[in-house]
Amino acid sequence: MTANNARILIIGGGFGGLFTALDLGGAGAITLVNDEDHFLFKPMLYEYLSGEVEAWHIAPDCKELLDEKVRFVRGTATGIDLDARAVTVTGHDEPLAYDVLVIAPGAVTNYAGVAGAEQFALPFRALNDANRLRRRMTDALDHVQPDAAPQDARSALTFAVVGGGASGVELATKMSDLLRDAVKRRALRGEPRVLIVEMADRLVPGMGEEIRRFVEDALQKARIEVHTGTRVVRVTENGITLEHNQQDTELGTAAVVWVAGVRMNPLVESLKVEKDRRGLMLVERTLQVRGYPNVFALGDVAFYPDVVPTLAGTAQLANQESGLCARNVRAFLEGRPLKTKHFIELGEAVSLGTEHAAVLSAGKVISGPLARQARFAMYTARLPTWHHRLKVGASWFFEGTQPRPLQPLGF
Ligand SMILES: Cc1cc2nc3c(=O)[nH]c(=O)nc-3n(C[C@H](O)[C@H](O)[C@H](O)COP(=O)(O)OP(=O)(O)OC[C@H]3O[C@@H](n4cnc5c(N)ncnc54)[C@H](O)[C@@H]3O)c2cc1C
Repeated sequence: MTANNARILIIGGGFGGLFTALDLGGAGAITLVNDEDHFLFKPMLYEYLSGEVEAWHIAPDCKELLDEKVRFVRGTATGIDLDARAVTVTGHDEPLAYDVLVIAPGAVTNYAGVAGAEQFALPFRALNDANRLRRRMTDALDHVQPDAAPQDARSALTFAVVGGGASGVELATKMSDLLRDAVKRRALRGEPRVLIVEMADRLVPGMGEEIRRFVEDALQKARIEVHTGTRVVRVTENGITLEHNQQDTELGTAAVVWVAGVRMNPLVESLKVEKDRRGLMLVERTLQVRGYPNVFALGDVAFYPDVVPTLAGTAQLANQESGLCARNVRAFLEGRPLKTKHFIELGEAVSLGTEHAAVLSAGKVISGPLARQARFAMYTARLPTWHHRLKVGASWFFEGTQPRPLQPLGF
């Protein structure tokens, strides 16, 4: 094996894997395996739900992003044999062999064993999840008769968001704005009901105090019901049971959306390597998996020892790690010393409905429509490849980023 012909296999075309492939450009014979044909810029999935951005903006085709030197394989990696140095992938009779492996398949939704949650709650991690939720909202609106009493409209338009982290807040404020706008456009009486259900006693626990004030204000203005200290007991096809102070309440819902946390990717669960108590693979400060110098892991599946705690499980971290990973894979192949890095927080940005956001950057918080623009600008800069950034930046600048109303189906 030489540095030029070494087989580098990357599992996962997300913030960790895709950006590693892009940064590696030209080194070895690179294969990227991803179970979707596109990358997904997940921090803007809320804007995709609301129609502020389109699929091509945040979910470009992997093949369009990668140059011809990278082989793209659409498939799911189902098993890794670290001793045989091979990965089984759906649709391929023979396992894919590697000299260097990069593991970055990200996390999956954690339903925490709550009855009915996996079957009936909607996850929110993929384009299709957002499509399904949007359809569910439109469907619920379509079923409200024009002359329905306000309390009937409210009951038909009840949506529960489970999980009070940044995801829950961003999703609930977007949904509330979309639904309220649709109620007005359709001249319905009453208003929608959007709840956030959180087991802890406060929302967005990791967020700084200053930005939290804007979050609380936005939730209040969007008339979102916040149920902290509340546990979900059960989810059914059209309802949810909540427990607060040992008292159960059943609620009818048009949809329950589950953003209450993530768990380890099943691909990694079965791997016999050193892990922490949450199942994250322990990696050296070079991103090498302990005991396997030719295997690197990053993003949501890896525990990196030198990082500020609030960065764990974020795109910011996976993205920063990809630069180090690509550099170290090259160094490993060329027999040069590997580097380590201390990863830092680059700022915080939360979308708060279709017109507002709050952004913490360089120690200052800004909010409102200006922060929304700043967030778009920040995220344009973090999209993959210059070419894609320019196309998307131009589209947002010239065509705007207005939400797409929830029109009646068949409109
Ligand atoms: C809705 C949402 C909003 C978020 N907002 C923010 C935010 O504002 N800021 C922030 O920093 N972080 C945010 N995050 C978290 C962030 O997206 C993740 O931490 C980040 O994507 C992790 O990168 P990764 O490369 O580990 O995984 P991912 O980016 O998830 O990429 C993994 C890729 O691997 C694919 N894959 C999975 N299993 C397999 C398999 N077995 N075989 C082949 N391919 C596989 C997946 O489909 C995916 O394409 C958000 C997450 C979500 C869901």
